[in-house]
Amino acid sequence: QEKANLAARTRDDLRCPIVVIMGHVDTGKTKLLDKIRKTNVQEGEAGGITQQIGATYFEKSTLLTQTARLNETEKFDLTLPGMLVIDTPGHESFTNLRSRGSSLCDVAILVVDLMHGLEQQTIESLHMLKNRGTPFVVALNKVDRCYSWKTCKDMPIREALKEQAEGTLQEFRSRASDAKLQLQEQGVNSNIYWEMGDDDWENSDFVPLVPTSAITGEGVQDILLLLCQIAQRKLWKQLMWCANLQATVLEVKAIDGLGMTVDVLVVNGHLREGDRAVFCTLEGPIVTEIRGLLTPPPSREMRIKSEYIHHKEIKGALGVKVIGNGLEKVMAGTSVLVVGPDDEVEDIKAEVMSDLTKLQDKLSTD
Ligand code: GDP
Repeated sequence: QEKANLAARTRDDLRCPIVVIMGHVDTGKTKLLDKIRKTNVQEGEAGGITQQIGATYFEKSTLLTQTARLNETEKFDLTLPGMLVIDTPGHESFTNLRSRGSSLCDVAILVVDLMHGLEQQTIESLHMLKNRGTPFVVALNKVDRCYSWKTCKDMPIREALKEQAEGTLQEFRSRASDAKLQLQEQGVNSNIYWEMGDDDWENSDFVPLVPTSAITGEGVQDILLLLCQIAQRKLWKQLMWCANLQATVLEVKAIDGLGMTVDVLVVNGHLREGDRAVFCTLEGPIVTEIRGLLTPPPSREMRIKSEYIHHKEIKGALGVKVIGNGLEKVMAGTSVLVVGPDDEVEDIKAEVMSDLTKLQDKLSTD
């Protein structure tokens, strides 16, 4: 019965998964993020994709359009409300951030340059993800660099591979199999995702490989759909939306006309204007009223310096800029909590400050 209740809740009330892109410098993380933002979206009308603070939000309808061609064959029933992709690919400090005991991102894309294989930072990211139990897919990027690759713009990767000459395919297979071997040397079993067997999918340590080109877009649909599938099938428990506030400070920034602001990633729960929020600083906790909750305007073209949309209330998962007094010394990477009607302020302060110890432990062990 309990299981059935759980299942019923999942259908209606998943929050969107938080995705982070990692990997060695120059593997194509930034280009891949750009490409994900633009695939199948007409230039200049990026409907259903909104810029948030520190993240890009993809509506469910956008995910469906972006993966439509691939999904003709996959027929995956997407129930996620959307997806939140963090905007700072490879940003170490971000990947270090945790939100009260759990890693902030739900699922990751680890980008490997197919021409170079596994490089140092990729290996480090790989072990970080493994240690945290964060599921990830490996993008074997720059597949278009294979000898005489024939461009198949934004196509599902299997269709694109069918268009290639035998020599190109041979190079692709040999490079992909090198990457697989190198992953194995790091203790990671992997396979090209469509060659994975049912057992491999069941095995949570097994990693799917997706060939991509961040320039011409082959395989980008595949990455998106795979992330959705992993999130929906394997992570639904952790994605069940819950009213308890789970939020982490990404950055503290001075903004003209607004003073000191704090960029916050709200994973779960609500933040409201007027809430008494508790933040962590090196000098102790501060309690301050939230005076504003801001997100950038929906369209980039409209962006005029410091023009933001003001919200009375926001719901996770979402990136938001918080205005309040006394935020100067707030520490990135710590939690934000709100004092509720039944809470003792001292308890909340203690809970927020416990993050500092965890963060310091974390920094000294990483
Ligand atoms: P990052 O450091 O991982 O963010 O890498 P960038 O996205 O800045 O890309 C590094 C370089 O590789 C740039 O010159 C890109 O144009 C190039 N690049 C990235 N992805 C691809 C790809 O899929 N194919 C090709 N041919 N070049 C790529």
